[in-house]
Amino acid sequence: MKLSQYYVPTLKEAPKDADNLSAQLMIRAGLIRKLGSGLYEWLPLGLRVLKKVENIVREEMDRAGAHEIWMPIIQPKELWEESGRWAHFGDQLLKLEDRKGAGFCVSPTAEEEVTDLLRKDVSSYKQLPVCLYQFATKFRDEIRPRFGVMRAREFYMKDAYSFAATDEQANDWYKRMYDAYTRIFTRCGFQFRAVEADTGSIGGSFSNEFMVLAQNGEDLLAVCPACSYAANTEKAEIKAPQYTINPADFQPMEKRPTPQAYTVEDVAKLLNVGTDKLIKLLVFTADGEPVVALVRGDHELNEPKLRTLLKCTELEKASEEVYTQVTGSPVGFAGPQGLKERNPKIKIFADNYVKGVVNGVAGGNEVDVHVINVNPSRDITVDAYCDLKVATEGDCCAKCGEKFTFTRGIEVGHVFKLGTKYSSAMKAEFLDEKQTAHPFIMGCYGIGISRVVAAAIEQSHDEHGIIWPAPMAPFDVALVAIDYDTNPEVQKAADEMTAKLQAAGLSVLMDERDERPGVKFKDADLMGLPHRVVISSRTVKDGQFEYKKRSEKDAVRKDLAQADAFIAELKK
Ligand code: ATP
Ligand code: MG
Repeated sequence: MKLSQYYVPTLKEAPKDADNLSAQLMIRAGLIRKLGSGLYEWLPLGLRVLKKVENIVREEMDRAGAHEIWMPIIQPKELWEESGRWAHFGDQLLKLEDRKGAGFCVSPTAEEEVTDLLRKDVSSYKQLPVCLYQFATKFRDEIRPRFGVMRAREFYMKDAYSFAATDEQANDWYKRMYDAYTRIFTRCGFQFRAVEADTGSIGGSFSNEFMVLAQNGEDLLAVCPACSYAANTEKAEIKAPQYTINPADFQPMEKRPTPQAYTVEDVAKLLNVGTDKLIKLLVFTADGEPVVALVRGDHELNEPKLRTLLKCTELEKASEEVYTQVTGSPVGFAGPQGLKERNPKIKIFADNYVKGVVNGVAGGNEVDVHVINVNPSRDITVDAYCDLKVATEGDCCAKCGEKFTFTRGIEVGHVFKLGTKYSSAMKAEFLDEKQTAHPFIMGCYGIGISRVVAAAIEQSHDEHGIIWPAPMAPFDVALVAIDYDTNPEVQKAADEMTAKLQAAGLSVLMDERDERPGVKFKDADLMGLPHRVVISSRTVKDGQFEYKKRSEKDAVRKDLAQADAFIAELKK
């Protein structure tokens, strides 16, 4: 491909609204353009990368034994009503109507659609297991689209769904997909890690996220250096700390005025204590039932953990009305001391760390009042102490007790054992040997193909631009031809080199534009092709060309006469 005839509009500067490095580089290198919030066009160079990733994924899906299908992106409302997600998916679901007033949504995922597809044709255990996949555009009306194609509203996904008759079959498919993902991300050249992830309310299921390790990753991962445990901090199971508490230290509780102190930090400052002395009280409704959760002031409550503990589908912050009803306190000032005694019906769960607070501070159940010297073992009755916090520095692994280390990651893939959540709700059933009906046991497996492209850039770049891992590069070789139009010898050497590289199966992007060499080198670095060959009047005069790897600093001169040996070396 000749760059002068190609459509690669590179830019010197990234637009101001490109809010992370990969978005900036993708726009500057002419891979994508922004149409609107969370909406991107893929230009020829970007699309080549996307297709490369797609091909790797397709090969590994096929190798695992899954079969490719293609399903509409517009899905009927009725299917989503059957599963219950029309009402519960939330505002990410883009809903629309056709001219007759029938309801539809734009696919954010396709469990309903594929479950419907299978239930129409599969009725016997003999037809199972089966795994189907597709490449498709997804639309999610994300609250805060950001980081270019990494958290877009419209994005490109591979989604696969397995259907099994037995738990063994279902687990076998989970493993096959897990292994296929491992091969895919290894082939992409990533440094990555599979971590345990939150499964929300779906009991008995499990899930792993595949994380590309990158400094700017949105996710924070807790990794145990001793055992192999690694998990998203949302999920990471924390060992309960051991405390020896001496009741002789307990002081009597006292009220303190705390006017205009609205945050944990304000209150701590005013009362001259650390935020770890505070006990935060949060009120939720879990499937409509009020519940109280307590965490230390310096800790964050992990809602997925609370949801898993309560085995509820919907967990929401309680309304002001419910808050006051439950606690008898104005909003923001409730304290847990004596709460169970005042309201025996209310369920109270406290994080393990709350147990260790001595002479702590809690809400005073009156506006602008807090209580000091609250001691949980003396003053607070709870239903249980459990692990409810988001993992942070200092927490220890629940499996082996070692202190976690933390690293950031970008979620590029997700494997999920769903169980029978959708098949039960949608009556998608098969008959076993005894002619008894059972719902399919399902799994779902996603890879954000467009996010993979951005993640590669986050992981591999320098101050000059992208450094593509070879398997994802849009072209293998950047051939910078200087004086191509004015020097027939350059032209001849560059054309011959291109032909030889192509004959060896390497793709070439030749920059023969009438531009200054500096501009060409800058663009080559920006686009990040793995190999750079320079042919100019100066090199051909010596019967030579120049070669540099994108990832290395120094270029070397080589003889044009030795081109074949050089190409053989590149192919290795
Ligand atoms: P996240 O936690 O990042 O929102 P998710 O758990 O909602 O992801 P899944 O529903 O498991 O994601 O979707 C499968 C894959 O699709 C993810 O692993 C990710 O790579 C990709 N993906 C999800 N949301 C987006 C998005 N808004 N933009 C680009 N890719 C996305
Ligand atoms: Mg999401």
